Amino acid sequence: MADLEDFHVLIIGAGSTGLLLAQGLKQNGIKSTVYEREDSSSYQTRPREWGMTLHWGSSFISKCIPPAMHTRLNEICCDPFYGDNDLTLPHYNGKTGEKLFDMPGEQPRRISRRKLRNFLSEGINYGKELKSISSDGPQVIGSFADGTSAQGTIIVGCDGAKSIVREVLLGKDVAKLEDIDINMINISCAYSADTAKLLRTKHPCFKNSYHPTQGTMFWQSIQDVKDPGRPETWLFQNILSWIGAPRPEDLPDQASRTAFFKSKAEEYAEPWRSGALEIPDDLTFGIDRTTMFTPSMSWSDVLGGNVTLAGDAAHAMPPHRGQGLNNALEDAARLVGELTAARDGKKSLNEAIREYEEDMRARTLKEIPISVMQAKMVHSWEDLMNAPMIKMGMNKLKEENKKRAAASAESSS
Ligand SMILES: Cc1cc2nc3c(=O)[nH]c(=O)nc-3n(C[C@H](O)[C@H](O)[C@H](O)COP(=O)(O)OP(=O)(O)OC[C@H]3O[C@@H](n4cnc5c(N)ncnc54)[C@H](O)[C@@H]3O)c2cc1C
Repeated sequence: MADLEDFHVLIIGAGSTGLLLAQGLKQNGIKSTVYEREDSSSYQTRPREWGMTLHWGSSFISKCIPPAMHTRLNEICCDPFYGDNDLTLPHYNGKTGEKLFDMPGEQPRRISRRKLRNFLSEGINYGKELKSISSDGPQVIGSFADGTSAQGTIIVGCDGAKSIVREVLLGKDVAKLEDIDINMINISCAYSADTAKLLRTKHPCFKNSYHPTQGTMFWQSIQDVKDPGRPETWLFQNILSWIGAPRPEDLPDQASRTAFFKSKAEEYAEPWRSGALEIPDDLTFGIDRTTMFTPSMSWSDVLGGNVTLAGDAAHAMPPHRGQGLNNALEDAARLVGELTAARDGKKSLNEAIREYEEDMRARTLKEIPISVMQAKMVHSWEDLMNAPMIKMGMNKLKEENKKRAAASAESSS
């Protein structure tokens, strides 16, 4: 293995994946540098903020951060004042407000994307947009839009679903995201104190609902609580999603998007209804397409095998089963383990990267079809009522498989 002094990992993208990877490498004494295309102010103030349910992935955060940070994990919660109260996710009939089922998860926590990034961020090189990658003997070189470049032992593309590193490895056509024609409104905003209190009535943290005749899913959750005594300052996340039309091009201006959102919400029970009807007049939002990328191909023969992908750059999936972040965190922790083994001379760098990729592929090639199936199913009331997810919860696929296998072995014995 290369001399410890020379071993340097270039991480492209300061999202949750890239930052956790950097933390884990640091814990193991491996030098890394994170390059982020946004500048330091837009990185902090970017409007694209959302909540995510952290469940089985939290153990991978703990593996990569120093002990002093373990006790601070509460800081990343949307509502850091909520404590260890009930976090079983309830699902409702959106029209009547009747509860359909509760979905358990492995120690779920509703966390803020922005807070997680801030919690993990340290030593980021801002304003560094990767444009291309080349190799120079055993070294790889990343070149940035500002004309600078950086040389390292390995480049890890953690640059999100629209990854440039993936394009370099696979070419534009193969690296392209697939549009699965599920569209969504995803907003975060504050309300009057009365409405804010109403929005927390069915569950203080999160709840999901499905409309029996509209074919829409309506998610509502707390996004940020700075002062528990001032409900008018609390931020809430609302997601309305549906299959097919209207697509982004069908709702080209804010007035048409707001009118569409409110027209769907009119047919929902409280508190989803007020969550849409009472959004601030000046709130702007777009319509997001849902996309996927399945890492079914190998990229190990490109650039000496010293460039790889992690997180959404490696595997993009719809958010409806809440697995993207949790898999991204596992990628980061596993890559830390493999690169540490390579640094310690237990395997070659190429073997370490291949073993990481094999695990990541096997795990996500199983997960992506399930996430896509669930994303489609929740928009069909009939399919939903017959859904295995009601029994499976948010648990990791491997665990579910183990339990199902055990159950079927028991019934056949
Ligand atoms: C509405 C919604 C809800 C979700 N809910 C959940 C959930 O409940 N549970 C769950 O597990 N997952 C959830 N997800 C998925 C989760 O958000 C993602 O899987 C996760 O954020 C991916 O992190 P990442 O670091 O891989 O990518 P990103 O967060 O996209 O970070 C990529 C970073 O790379 C930077 N970058 C991009 N290109 C370049 C370049 N050329 N050069 C340098 N830097 C670059 C970007 O600026 C960005 O900072 C949800 C997603 C959405 C949209």
